[in-house]
Amino acid sequence: IEPAETVLHAFRAAAAAAPERTAFAYFDGRISYREADELSDSVAGYLAAQGFERGDRLALMLQNTPHFVVALLAAWKAGGTVVPVNPMYKSGELAHLLEDGGVKAVVCSDRAWEGVLRGAAEGTSVSIAITACELELQSRNDERVLSFERLPQAADAVDLLEVARAGHPAPAGRELTGDDVALISYTSGTSGRPKGAMNTHANITYNAERQATGLGIPEGGTYFALAPLFHITGMVVQLAGCFANSGTLALAYRFDPGVVLDAFAEHRPHFTVGPSTAFMALAAHPAVSREHFTSFTYISSGGAPLPPALVDGIEERLGVYIHNGYGLTECAAPCTSVPPERRAPVDKVSGTLSVGVPGPQTVVRILDDAGAEVPLGETGEIAVRGPQVSPGYLGRPDATAEGMPDGELRTGDIGFMDEGGWLYVVDRKKDMINAAGFKVWPREVEDVLYTHDAVREAAVVGVADAYRGETVKAYVSLLPGAEVAPDELAGYCKDRLAAYKYPREVEILPDLPKTATGKILRRELRSRS
Ligand code: ATP
Repeated sequence: IEPAETVLHAFRAAAAAAPERTAFAYFDGRISYREADELSDSVAGYLAAQGFERGDRLALMLQNTPHFVVALLAAWKAGGTVVPVNPMYKSGELAHLLEDGGVKAVVCSDRAWEGVLRGAAEGTSVSIAITACELELQSRNDERVLSFERLPQAADAVDLLEVARAGHPAPAGRELTGDDVALISYTSGTSGRPKGAMNTHANITYNAERQATGLGIPEGGTYFALAPLFHITGMVVQLAGCFANSGTLALAYRFDPGVVLDAFAEHRPHFTVGPSTAFMALAAHPAVSREHFTSFTYISSGGAPLPPALVDGIEERLGVYIHNGYGLTECAAPCTSVPPERRAPVDKVSGTLSVGVPGPQTVVRILDDAGAEVPLGETGEIAVRGPQVSPGYLGRPDATAEGMPDGELRTGDIGFMDEGGWLYVVDRKKDMINAAGFKVWPREVEDVLYTHDAVREAAVVGVADAYRGETVKAYVSLLPGAEVAPDELAGYCKDRLAAYKYPREVEILPDLPKTATGKILRRELRSRS
C-alpha cells in the first residue's frame, strides 16, 4: 500500500480531486472539501499570528462536529501537534493533560471554556483559546431539536467560526513530514497518570490507507462517524480513512442510537466503526430495521470485545455482518481486521471470535512472560510491530522502553494465533481473575452470558472471596422488557462452563458503566464490589 505522507497530504489530494464534494455533513449542513480547506487555512493563519509555531501543541476538546475537523486541519496546517481531549473530562484531568502535553492553544466549546478549561489552563503554557459554539443535540419530550447555545464571548477567547471566516492566509513554511507527531493521545490512565502516546502522521496514514483500500469501500464513499473523533479509532479509521478515500464524513454530535439510525437513513453510509456496545444499543432500539443497514459495504467493531452471539443475532435480525477489528491507541487503532467477504472464525474451545488478520507489513507475535515467542496456538501476550506502532510516550522514556521495547508494542492483551493466521484476543492481562489458583478470563464468561435471550450487556470481574481469594461476579443489563432472576443467569453459565468459571454472584443493573468511547468499565464495577 502507498499511504499519503501526512493526513494533510491525504486531505489535500482529496480536495484537489473533487473540490465540490461534501467533506463533511452535519444534520442539514454540508461543507465541501474546498470550503473545509479555506476555513482551516484561515484558522491556521490566526494561530500563526498569535504565536503558534511549528511543533506547538493544540488541545482539541469537541464532540463530532464540523468544528472539530476544521480545527484539526488548522492545527496541522500551522505545523502543530493535536492533543485530542475527551469533552467529558473534569478540571483535574484537564490540568494534567494541558501541563503534561505542554499545550499552547485550546479549541473547545464555549461552555467548556467558561466551565472548567479556563481554570485548568491557569499556570500552564496555554496562551491561545478558541471557542466553538457547537450545534448541540438535545432531546426534549422525545422531540429531537438542534439548538445553539451561544454564551457571551469570553474576553480571553475568540470564536472559531469568526476566525474561520476571516480569510486569514495559511502560514507558509509549515509543511509536515510523515515522522512529525500528528497526535498525542492520552491513555485512559487505568494504571497511574494518563500517558500521552505519540502517533506520527505516518502511523496514521498507513492505517488510514489500509482501511480505505482494503475493505471494499467505494472511492468517494460515505463514512459515518459512530466513534468519537477525539478517540483514536474515530480519528484514524473514520476521519483519516475517509480523507484517504476522498469520502464524505457524516457527523452527528455524540452517540445517541435513535439519532444514529436517522442519520443512517439520511446519509446512506457505506462504512462505520464503533465499539460493540454501540451495536448492542442500535440493535436494541425500537425503531431499528433491516433498511437502516442496506447501504453499508463494511461495518467494523473495534476497541472492545465483540461477543459472537451479538454478531449472529444482528446478522439474523438485521441482515448485516459486523466485522471484528483489534487495535490500541499506541498503534493508531487497527492492527488486525477481517477481510471483506470473509467471516471471522470462532475458536472451538473457548468460543472466542477472532479479531482478524494482521495487515500488510504488520507482524503480530505471541510472547511468554520472559518475552520469548510461544508455539503456534498457545496463549501469551500479544506484541505488534509495524508502520502504525507509536514511537513512544511523550516525555516518558521509561514507559516507552517498557511498552515498546525495540519498537515492538507490548499490548498488555493476552491472545493466541491459529494456523490460518487469525488472531484471537482472550482478555486483558490485568483483568484475569485468579479463583483459588484457577485462571478465569472474564471474556469467556461474558460471551456465554451474551447468548442468553434476556441479556443486553455483560461484564465479569473478580471480587474478593475469603475462601478462594477471588471469585467470579457478573454484572448484566437486560434487553427492554426482558425479565430473568440473577440465580437463573448463574445457573445458565454453570451449565455451559467449567465449575470454577461460572459466576457465583450475578447482579442486574439498569445500565453498565462505560467510558465516553463506549467501553464497559470493568474497573468501576470492581470497585463497587
Ligand atoms: P488504557 O490503556 O488507558 O487502559 P484502553 O486500554 O481502553 O485504555 P485503548 O487504546 O482505547 O485504551 O483500547 C485498546 C484495548 O481495547 C486493547 O488493548 C484491548 O484490550 C481492547 N480491544 C480493542 N479491540 C478489541 C477487540 N476487537 N476485541 C477485544 N478487545 C479489544
